[in-house]
Amino acid sequence: MAISTAENKSIIRSDWVKTEAMRCLSCFDPPCQKACPASIPIPEFIYSIKSGNLRHAAKVVREANPVVAICGAVCPEEIFCQSACTRSKIDRAINIRELHGFVSRSETISDNRTEPGAGKIAIIGAGPAGLSAATKLADAGYKITIFDKRSHIGGVPNSSIPKFRLSDEAIALDISYVENLGIEIKLNNAIDDPSTLLNDFHAVLIAAGLNLNRRPDIKGEMLPEVIDAITFLEQARSGKIKELNDKRVAVIGGGNVSLDVAATAASLGASETRLYYRRGPAEMKVWHSELAEVQKRGIIIEYLTAPVEIMGEGGEIEAVQCARVELDSRCDSSGRRIPRLIRGSEFMTHADLVITAIGLSSDFAEDIKANLDLSTNVPGIFAAGDWARGEGTIVEAVRDGKRVAQSIITYLKEKSK
Ligand code: SF4
Repeated sequence: MAISTAENKSIIRSDWVKTEAMRCLSCFDPPCQKACPASIPIPEFIYSIKSGNLRHAAKVVREANPVVAICGAVCPEEIFCQSACTRSKIDRAINIRELHGFVSRSETISDNRTEPGAGKIAIIGAGPAGLSAATKLADAGYKITIFDKRSHIGGVPNSSIPKFRLSDEAIALDISYVENLGIEIKLNNAIDDPSTLLNDFHAVLIAAGLNLNRRPDIKGEMLPEVIDAITFLEQARSGKIKELNDKRVAVIGGGNVSLDVAATAASLGASETRLYYRRGPAEMKVWHSELAEVQKRGIIIEYLTAPVEIMGEGGEIEAVQCARVELDSRCDSSGRRIPRLIRGSEFMTHADLVITAIGLSSDFAEDIKANLDLSTNVPGIFAAGDWARGEGTIVEAVRDGKRVAQSIITYLKEKSK
């Protein structure tokens, strides 16, 4: 019988998975597991693949990480589990992320509701930190209500990560797992003051993420053809921006988000995409996979270069004035050398669209401050994820969600004594 291309691909894929799993040394005291912020029991799930028990493998990874399908696609394994893999000392690290991505895709998600009775908890934010905490708290018998101002579950991964990195299918799998736990999710529901929720809930968790894009603070930044990274990525993922044919795109930034922006602009057909970064390659703290994507798409990175003015008329951008930069011997609070414009180095470059990607912050619930243990200065209110600790990865948000869930359980038990 002829095998279709898709079937053929899936056969090759499962063969590869088994072979890759066989490379695992099943280390005692596994360093990969310690390096995974979600503490996925890596040797255990890989052993299950080796023995053909994919069902158990899926159960193990899901219990440790409720957004394991999303992490299976976009987790920067190079800075976490795979960087610690013992096998890399022999030949190359086990491709752990691909393995759990595969098992999560083969998972059958079933109804897992329990009858809640331990208390009511409100969570603000249906992103990875909120979902991670919600699943742990629901497992512990609490009734969970998640409020999110967006129209969809999944936070940043579902709104901003480009589809060529994260498929709708992976997101749908993780959402389905959460929905099958009987967690109530109220979308299009912005909460202005988290303290008001304490009237109806025993505890409140803020996992709202970061909602403000930092501005570069240069002349012309308010022109209509200057947009921020999150708006651009959301419009690209939702299909509102369908193509950028013949547009020259200038991206200002130097982090992973700026690389996502540049790769997305190129994928939408921009005639030229340039990324302007005010420091050098050594200071660019980005993941190899994201940088490789940008290089693959022919994007030009102008290192040690800073846009100083966006020039335009009648809403149209005409040019971007840039200046070359040198790095001071002194370092800033991030430990990186301070950039300084070189006088007289200014030059003009053409662009039709400028996208700023220089970081995020939040103006939500500014009177509430997160403590290191994920409690806050308001009794009964807890915090997790980017809102509490600043920009981080999805898997770090998962870790925060698990930790804060435990803090909330301890708090409520103490309170009820
Ligand atoms: S979640 Fe990330 S760090 Fe953890 S096992 Fe998966 S790829 Fe590795």
